[in-house]
Amino acid sequence: MTYALELERVSVEFPDGDGVVKALDDVSMTIDRGAFVAVTGPSGSGKSTLLAVAGLLLRPTSGRVMLAGQDVTGSSRSRSTDLRRERIGFVFQQPHLIGSLTAMEQLEMVARLSGDLSAQMRERAMHLLESVGLEAVANRRPAAMSGGQRQRAGIARALMNDPQLLLVDEPTSALDHERGVEVIDLLRGITKDQGTGTIVVTHDLATLGEQDEVVRLADGRMQEPVFA
Ligand code: ADP
Ligand code: MG
Repeated sequence: MTYALELERVSVEFPDGDGVVKALDDVSMTIDRGAFVAVTGPSGSGKSTLLAVAGLLLRPTSGRVMLAGQDVTGSSRSRSTDLRRERIGFVFQQPHLIGSLTAMEQLEMVARLSGDLSAQMRERAMHLLESVGLEAVANRRPAAMSGGQRQRAGIARALMNDPQLLLVDEPTSALDHERGVEVIDLLRGITKDQGTGTIVVTHDLATLGEQDEVVRLADGRMQEPVFA
């Protein structure tokens, strides 16, 4: 069986004055399909860089990136864009919803952008909204939704392309503890039901469960994996 994602000895360097800063330093990790992995660490430790590499937004300075067993390290920009559209879902700290669109339309937009707004995709959108508990607000615009609802709409939208890899950056930082726990529970459930490999960057260890695998980064280096 292949992993959803493998990072092999990945380093990322950025120029910094006369020298370089190592945003990631020799990081190796594997994410199984259906595995939920939390990544934590202080500000500047490389968490967002890790997601950018995993999401093919940033090429590593060295090391290899494998998606579903395929080496995608050297992919061109347009190939990376295709791979992202076909296989990867992103959830950001702020869901970046479009103010003029209803929850349902936010999801339909994904299908429209990939040229496939079929009845089947509309059904998929409705089903996903149901699965994140938003069926009652499917016709509301973001301004009429709570923060937690907006974040869940962002999660549903990230699932429209049936991703193999789900990358989530600090999804709970704008939510209170209880809403945060709900969002993490939802992501864990999605991971199991849809079989995504899921990486969730979070500062908020209190929203995690005892069973969750936690990877700690410090100065771009991975610390030994432990449990929350
Ligand atoms: P985190 O998400 O854990 O706060 P980042 O991955 O954003 O950390 O950043 C890791 C390190 O890399 C930091 O020292 C940051 O300043 C540096 N860095 C990140 N992105 C860039 C960039 N585009 N150019 C220069 N330095 C960067
Ligand atoms: Mg960050």
